[in-house]
Amino acid sequence: MTQVQGLFYLDQTPVTIEIKNGLIYRVVRDRDSREQKSSEIYIAPGFIDVQVNGYASVSFSEENLTVDNIRKITKGLWKVGVTSYFPTIISRSHEITKANCYVIAEAMQDPEIGQSIPGIFLEGPYISPVDGFRGAHNKEWVRSPDVHEFEEYINAADGTIIKVGLAPEIEGNLDIIHRCAEDGIVVALAHHNGSAENIREAADAGATVVTHLGNGCANMIHRHNNPLWQQLAEDRLSATLIVDGHHLRPEEVLTFYKAKGPERLMIISDVTKLAGMPPGDYVWDGKKVVMTSEGMIKYPEQNVLAGAALPLHVGIGNMMKFTQCSLAEAIHMTAKNQSKVFKLHDRGEILPGKRADLVLFTITDTKVEILKTILAGKQVYSRNQ
Ligand SMILES: [Zn+2]
Repeated sequence: MTQVQGLFYLDQTPVTIEIKNGLIYRVVRDRDSREQKSSEIYIAPGFIDVQVNGYASVSFSEENLTVDNIRKITKGLWKVGVTSYFPTIISRSHEITKANCYVIAEAMQDPEIGQSIPGIFLEGPYISPVDGFRGAHNKEWVRSPDVHEFEEYINAADGTIIKVGLAPEIEGNLDIIHRCAEDGIVVALAHHNGSAENIREAADAGATVVTHLGNGCANMIHRHNNPLWQQLAEDRLSATLIVDGHHLRPEEVLTFYKAKGPERLMIISDVTKLAGMPPGDYVWDGKKVVMTSEGMIKYPEQNVLAGAALPLHVGIGNMMKFTQCSLAEAIHMTAKNQSKVFKLHDRGEILPGKRADLVLFTITDTKVEILKTILAGKQVYSRNQ
């Protein structure tokens, strides 16, 4: 039996969490303990990041991905409190998509890191080919939906695809949504310019998520006919948000929070391979990108963001700052909502019987600092070691 102590994320009072066989055994509340109160170290469920493109110089969408590369990413993410994440493959050639599905599925069997990877997020290739909506996806690799091709990815991934991102206005994608529904794969509307009707139809067919709401969208859109309104209004759709302070303005985050409510939002990092690297100029996919010291990555010529570099805990602090939401709400948007939407019932909350995935951190003026990460009862990161 191991014990972890700190301030409980739900009400910020002292708590002792007892761990047995990798699971939470007991949650003992001790609201009068003055000693613990002075520590100001918070305990929350391990963070679940449902969109990770890469980290620490490794990308899930590039050639020659290996299990050891994935180990490097996973260990990097443990340092920022992420105990579960979805490796994300963006629009790529058929061969790379298939090969990387295979390698990630192999990593999921790895005794050290497998527990941190519940499944693969295939973001593309069935998205909008139109500039702006396509975002940073390479036009060459965006293609029309093909159920047989998609079937090959499901097989290469050995059934571990957990989330698919697609554009609802593209003909053939309703078939992909129906195919996903058969296997319980979550469909997320992504990089699209769907009409209100397209979005309603996609939700009717079983789509339940909008990917990085407010991004993957052209800079100039029609004030009436654009994908935002219906996605905001549609209660059947939860939304993921990149709350790094660059992808969305504070008032956008606040509006999305008010429209969707804290139970329908999930904070994502959308981090790319440059995350965890020093700022500067990089060449990426043959194109020049710039990463600033504030963690912004851009294609300078097109003035399009190329992905993100700030981990999930930065989003927790920003969410509290932009919306005035409580710590409990911000953590629900980082763990509990994800566990519900993606049916990861063994994690996402601190309750007896759940897997002991825990993160210990401090907060100073909405700046979150990770001190310790515990995965299935085992310490996988400590800042002091
Ligand atoms: Zn995207």
